Amino acid sequence: MKKLLALVFCFVLVFALSGCASYRTYEQIAADGKLVVATNATFPPYEFIDDDGNYSGIDIEIIEAVGEYLGLEVEIQNIEFDAILTAVPSGKADVGIAGMTVDETRLKSVDFSDTYATGKQVIITSADSGIAGVDDLAGKKVGVQTGTTGDIYASDDEAIGSVEQYNSGIEAVLALSQGKIDAVIIDNEPAKAYIASYDSLIIIDEEYTYEEYAICIAKGNDTLTAKINEALSALKADGTLQAIIDKYISAD
Ligand code: GLN
Repeated sequence: MKKLLALVFCFVLVFALSGCASYRTYEQIAADGKLVVATNATFPPYEFIDDDGNYSGIDIEIIEAVGEYLGLEVEIQNIEFDAILTAVPSGKADVGIAGMTVDETRLKSVDFSDTYATGKQVIITSADSGIAGVDDLAGKKVGVQTGTTGDIYASDDEAIGSVEQYNSGIEAVLALSQGKIDAVIIDNEPAKAYIASYDSLIIIDEEYTYEEYAICIAKGNDTLTAKINEALSALKADGTLQAIIDKYISAD
């Protein structure tokens, strides 16, 4: 009886453990025919919900083109930005695409595909704030989207007075427009999209950092990473990737 109990216990343990770190391999995804993609659709022009209620943007079109290349249907899961970094390792989503910057800390918990776009962090402030560059953020209240690189830089910058975290960049920009904070640090293209509806807000010319965006994949899910990279390089080579970017971003 004891042996039987021990055996049952072993099965339960193995089952529980395999349930924990269970990302789907490329073979399993291919058999299912569907790639589950986590994003945070509050980040135009990379991912947003358009006027017809559809997911739209550069990342959405890129991942759909990747899916098409691999013969996979794409299912979008719209979740909080910082939740993507746990959804992917735990297998709730196969990949994450969200204007996500390749960064050393993230590389400890996820792998990244080859990069498909570049970005930079910029400062948004009100035209009359007197803030003209990074140094002027000393002692100021700075808004960021939780868990983003803007959050990481602002939190690491000891000169900044306080860092206020918001669920989305647009909420941070709203708080800025209401005078609750002095500036927002965020990616340059979403910054342009966010301030479009506020006459009083400007983007400071001085950029905070240069960044590279990539698709995140569970650590060690190597065949999937290789397949995604194969698709990305085919889409680069035939001009699809650039055409998608040009559709949403006009050259300055
Ligand atoms: N590029 C930034 C990051 O990776 C912001 C991404 C986002 O807010 N979707 O943290």
